[in-house]
Amino acid sequence: QSTLKSKTKDLYPDWTPGEPVPYAALCTTFSKIEMITKRLEILAHCSLFLRQVLRLTPKDLLPTILLMINKLAADYAGIELGIGESLIMKAVSESTGRTLAQVKADQNEIGDLGMVAAKSRSKQPTMFKPKPLTVRGVHAGLMTIATTEGSGAQGRKVDNIKKLLSATDAHSMDKGVDINKDKGGASEAKYIVRTLEGKLRLGLAEKTVLVALAQAMMFHEMSEKDNKIPSTADLAKAESTLKSVYSELPSYEVIIPAMLEHGILNLPENCRLQPGVPLKPMLAKPTKSITEVLDRFEGKDFTCEYKYDGERAQIHFVAHSASEEYATAAPASGKSDKGVSNIFSRNSEDLSKKYPDILGKLPTWVKEGTKSFVLDCETVAWDMVEKKVLPFQQLMTRKRKDVKVEDVKVKVCVFAFDILYLNGEALVNKPFRERREHLHKSFIPVEGEFAFAKYGDTNELEEIQTLLEESVKSSCEGLMVKMLDGPESSYEPSRRSQNWLKVKKDYLSGVGDSLDLVVIGAYYGKGKRTSWYGAFLLACYNPTTQNYETVCNIGTGFSEAVLEHLHTQLSDIVIDRAKPFYTHSSGNKDQPDVWFEPRFVWEVKTADLTLSPRYKAAADEVAGGGKGVSLRFPRFIKERDDKKPEQASTSRMIAEMYQKQESVGKNKGPSVDDDF
Ligand code: ATP
Repeated sequence: QSTLKSKTKDLYPDWTPGEPVPYAALCTTFSKIEMITKRLEILAHCSLFLRQVLRLTPKDLLPTILLMINKLAADYAGIELGIGESLIMKAVSESTGRTLAQVKADQNEIGDLGMVAAKSRSKQPTMFKPKPLTVRGVHAGLMTIATTEGSGAQGRKVDNIKKLLSATDAHSMDKGVDINKDKGGASEAKYIVRTLEGKLRLGLAEKTVLVALAQAMMFHEMSEKDNKIPSTADLAKAESTLKSVYSELPSYEVIIPAMLEHGILNLPENCRLQPGVPLKPMLAKPTKSITEVLDRFEGKDFTCEYKYDGERAQIHFVAHSASEEYATAAPASGKSDKGVSNIFSRNSEDLSKKYPDILGKLPTWVKEGTKSFVLDCETVAWDMVEKKVLPFQQLMTRKRKDVKVEDVKVKVCVFAFDILYLNGEALVNKPFRERREHLHKSFIPVEGEFAFAKYGDTNELEEIQTLLEESVKSSCEGLMVKMLDGPESSYEPSRRSQNWLKVKKDYLSGVGDSLDLVVIGAYYGKGKRTSWYGAFLLACYNPTTQNYETVCNIGTGFSEAVLEHLHTQLSDIVIDRAKPFYTHSSGNKDQPDVWFEPRFVWEVKTADLTLSPRYKAAADEVAGGGKGVSLRFPRFIKERDDKKPEQASTSRMIAEMYQKQESVGKNKGPSVDDDF
């Protein structure tokens, strides 16, 4: 007991109870985490620090957590950092009295702008000691930078970055420190800059922070208050409670105050799904054949729904008469005389400005007595003349922001397939059959505007085959097969669940599921394509190391128009050299002509997978002697602008696909690199 307490006390001595958490204390923890790779040790450091916050300054728990996960607010608030390199370099140079050329030269040599800032700051003679930065102060400063808009915004952003950098502790990185060995130590400037870049690169996954928070809270409640040490079972309970609450209500802004007030184990009674806060959507597992579906669901009742090819939309609505149900944290975008509403994307991004036409009509689809709801839907482009679904490409031509109803050219129809909340009650734990009944009872379909997803409840192979063919004829991607009864049919937020299976028409020809990859480099074109990029270097994401691991070059599947558009789009994010968190072969001939910031995600199909020394995807997981998994004959399908780079296919997924393929023994041919 005494050891536990003293350990937390020694962490950072200059921290007075009740006073704001010193930013230097957080940076000390960051630097410890950065020096280690074992997940459990990282978790321990993180949780120890959070215990100290809980004991000394619980008021700062929220900004501390947000800085740890490198976000300024919940996703739906749409507040993003990710400030470009050139603005940051300008601010570093101006705030440390070095020339831009010196800063750029350092950046070329070190490759990590955070460390460049640390070095610049430690070289600077300081006349007076700046007032120490606090966690809440840094959070507020970053918020100001992120939300600066309008004319002269860039200049004001630079000024505000300078303000923060000038307040960092100049000597927190000792002179003469070996940058490569100790990664720049606990320098405040380093972490401020990395936060601004949108990448802390500590190897601290968001999930780890969530677990650390649960453990710290349990420790705090039991050891600090009741003088007991929690058992492993107590910690596991805290962890599963917080995880499940967070998946229904992914907002620390709502959860943390409730947890501090009611205690972690009482969270489920106090923090439930709430209209206004988007849940992380449930996802499906791919299957290769209808027989695989029948094997998986043998003896159970299931339903086969059309898999519409549009954009996922989670629609939240609360009638004025039930307004207390709406989360106060939410920015209600759609307002009508009936109530308030929002539409969120698969990423929890607020899509309300893209779909004012949907929000406008929404109240007319609602039956009398339906006061509040959260619907899971797909918005699909709709042909008003032929009265049918249009292909996905049509939907992509719609503007994303500030759409005016009168300007809408591509009409959309909303296909609702699930209801997660109705009239004050969360339905996620109810069986799907019951949820579907609620859905059908509470809304009125309107042709070309609002419909229920088509489905057939059958276990017969031939009938499923027919449904699949019909769905494809109706411009759908295939079927979503879902369990109907029992606890297995509950809605599992944020899970790629075994209880939702997708059967796409393409699987049946043996091509397999597509991958979503990040474009990080390009090669100039040859022949007709010389003025654009002719091929690109793609990478998957490794959430554990937070690195992007290369997986293939791609030059197939692009029309001339697409290549031209991509050239314009990507030219804006060219960088001088590979980011230190890109993992790629170091061979000279393997290097692309240009590198990009990791920003765009593309959907890509492949014939199969092979091992290659040129690429590094999943190299640590497949035991290929340093070779990575790579795609053979990759083909570009479409841009995935609903996915962020961190949501790209992971190295783990690619390793699994490769292992599955190997175990099936499909890939008997010689291992070859893709060629274009
Ligand atoms: P991935 O995340 O694997 O890249 P994806 O974004 O296409 O793929 P999938 O898991 O393949 O998602 O399929 C689920 C998606 O299908 C949902 O996100 C939703 O947008 C869409 N969809 C269309 N019709 C349905 C339906 N009836 N039920 C559930 N989802 C549907």
